[in-house]
Amino acid sequence: MLPLGILALQGDFREHGYTLDAIGVESRQVRTLSDLESVAGLIIPGGESTVIAKLARAYDLLEPIREKIANGFPAFGTCAGLILLADEILDGIEGQESFGGLDVSVRRNAFGNQLDSFEAELDFVGIPGEPVKAAFIRAPIVEWVGSDVEVLSALPDGRIVAVQNDHVLGLSFHPEVTGETRIHQHFVSMVKRSN
Ligand code: GLN
Repeated sequence: MLPLGILALQGDFREHGYTLDAIGVESRQVRTLSDLESVAGLIIPGGESTVIAKLARAYDLLEPIREKIANGFPAFGTCAGLILLADEILDGIEGQESFGGLDVSVRRNAFGNQLDSFEAELDFVGIPGEPVKAAFIRAPIVEWVGSDVEVLSALPDGRIVAVQNDHVLGLSFHPEVTGETRIHQHFVSMVKRSN
């Protein structure tokens, strides 16, 4: 398998690299079109979705990534990365762009200032055993999902925090900062299946 790509324009791309190192999966930071052509799938990190989108546009990566994902290229986004993979963004800035790929509506900063960040232990479809340790940092929430999207995890009050379709996976939270490796392993399986 080609290495996995990690979009490295802004945000916590290094932490995703360390998580892949921990499970023995080779990765490459993606900043150019030729980087993008040499990876088997793309991780879009947490950070600030508005900044990542603007930088992707400035680096001429926005349309190529959008097109590849629309054609079945596997992608995995955490937090800001989930926002960037959503077909619809609620509470975005004016004209905020996304790569799209997940038929979902995602609301930015959905927990407000009161609850800026918190940790939770989550049940997660397909990950048996210990609950998933999740860090939420100015996190988005999935408010609506299309018919081809599966919900993998929700908070106890029902708010959706993990979704996937055939080749795109998105989380509201950051497994890459809590030492949780099983969701990255799940994405590696999705990539292997699609190749
Ligand atoms: N609130 C950020 C955004 O809108 C996401 C925060 C994060 O990735 N931790 O992009």
